[in-house]
Amino acid sequence: MTDLKELEAKILSEGTAINETVLKVDCFLNHQVDPFLMQRVGEEFAEYYKDKGITKVFTIESSGIAPAVMTAIKLNVPMVILKKQQSKILNGDVYQTKVTSFTKGTSYELTLSKKYIDKDDKILLIDDFLANGEAAFGGIRLIEGAGATVSGVGIVIEKSFQPGRQRLDDAGYDVYSLARVKRLAEGVIEFVEEV
Ligand code: 5GP
Repeated sequence: MTDLKELEAKILSEGTAINETVLKVDCFLNHQVDPFLMQRVGEEFAEYYKDKGITKVFTIESSGIAPAVMTAIKLNVPMVILKKQQSKILNGDVYQTKVTSFTKGTSYELTLSKKYIDKDDKILLIDDFLANGEAAFGGIRLIEGAGATVSGVGIVIEKSFQPGRQRLDDAGYDVYSLARVKRLAEGVIEFVEEV
């Protein structure tokens, strides 16, 4: 369970459920960024994963960058951004994998330069949202495809009513979500009650 009650408070006061599946948090995470809240997010992830020997924090552009960089500062390791490219890059310098975007319904090639990963790396993957898990599993495929280890998956806002969390748990990953949304409807945001 997270101590980050201020994140839930922020989601309730400034987030908007635009329908039963999409939560808009443009005012503090996806467009404007609240750097102080992101600092707290980074501290929370760093505390949770501090004994895992993390060597790098990875994230997916662009909304994972703020929480990921704050986490990387606290863990004192580099941060790497997985890029969303329109098409395949046909040279041997990159790893790529196709991911379908939850919010846009389109696909992109998640791309990582071979320069920024080593098979000894223990990687913490951070993202802003977890829905179906497509983005997270795309990151995992790239990391594991390079022979490195996924030591954790840190999520700022998990939509627990969608399958991503269960898929990651079933695959054995150490997932830590700072806010867990149980239900969305127009004007309604409810959280999972943790015991
Ligand atoms: P997934 O790949 O798990 O289906 O979806 C996760 C990705 O889609 C995240 O990287 C995030 O950018 C985007 N996403 C999914 N659901 C939402 C949502 O409710 N609101 C916003 N703003 N982004 C979302």
